[in-house]
Amino acid sequence: QRLTGAGADDAERVQEAALRPKGLAEFVGQPQVRDQLSLVLDAAKVRGKAPDHVLLSGPPGLGKTTLAMIIAADMGSQIRVTSGPAVQHAGDLAAILSSLEEGEVLFIDEIHRVARAAEEMLYVAMEDFRVDVIVGKGPGATAIPLDLPPFTLVGATTRSGLLPAPLRDRFGFTGHLDFYSIEDLQTVLTRSARMLGIEATPGGLGEIAGRSRGTPRIANRLLRRVRDWAQVRGRGIVDLEAAKAALLVYEVDERGLDRLDRSVLSALCRRFGGGPVGLNTLAVSVGEEPDTVGEVAEPFLVREGLLSRTPRGRIATVEGWRHLGLTPPDTIPT
Ligand code: ADP
Repeated sequence: QRLTGAGADDAERVQEAALRPKGLAEFVGQPQVRDQLSLVLDAAKVRGKAPDHVLLSGPPGLGKTTLAMIIAADMGSQIRVTSGPAVQHAGDLAAILSSLEEGEVLFIDEIHRVARAAEEMLYVAMEDFRVDVIVGKGPGATAIPLDLPPFTLVGATTRSGLLPAPLRDRFGFTGHLDFYSIEDLQTVLTRSARMLGIEATPGGLGEIAGRSRGTPRIANRLLRRVRDWAQVRGRGIVDLEAAKAALLVYEVDERGLDRLDRSVLSALCRRFGGGPVGLNTLAVSVGEEPDTVGEVAEPFLVREGLLSRTPRGRIATVEGWRHLGLTPPDTIPT
């Protein structure tokens, strides 16, 4: 199992649901987004209207879904959850849109993956609250315009740059989520430990926070794995010893790099002499999808200053070489 890949599978989603903050006040960190969003929501309440459409961008596991649920809860509305890959035909989207109720929040995760054929329909729905339902097939087909009740679309994307401009422009508010500080992650972990009834020391939680690559989802996941270790091989307490021992077993290093991160960095240094090399080539050489390398491993390695993006490709930094215990070359390409 990949421990630090930031995406979640279904089983994890179930566990996560229990830990999701239910309101903005409980949502740790991201002060700017929180503040801006609370303004959007309060203004909507004052006007008695559904809030403007909201776009949330940022790497996986930083709280986009959580915020969408908070928006709905705050407005006292229902939330409908779907994702870009699930909207492959205009008909998929028409079915969802035409069943929305007044004030409902429609959350589309990975909105940059919505099929082209459905994009146009999304624009009209967002702007004019209307959907054209196609009745019949072939030359006899007719479009029947259907008015939609006011609703709020919350879109999530890993990079807002992936969205076509006309779609991006139709959101009234865009919030960008950034990686969390270690202090914020410690707060997330303290809350999670309390909710899960896990006995933990600040030292143990601090160690986990420092290796969670700025991502609450990963922090919570590592907490569960350290708890396993503590219960089976330790004293039942998530302390520094348990954290260090468990993360050694799971191959998460002191800086939070996991196997994939290290194999990307290692391929870059050992196989490509430190680069520059293209993302696709790099991904193929470690046997991973370019998306996984580009959206999960790379942003973290860049943030840690171990890898840089240059116009000619990816390069390992001096620190990148050193992290692997290798001697950097005399000149680093630019
Ligand atoms: P995304 O949709 O961006 O992939 P999620 O909203 O699903 O991320 O968050 C993943 C997990 O991390 C959730 O279970 C949630 O409990 C936790 N989490 C995310 N952001 C926060 C936060 N700011 N405070 C506390 N927990 C958080």
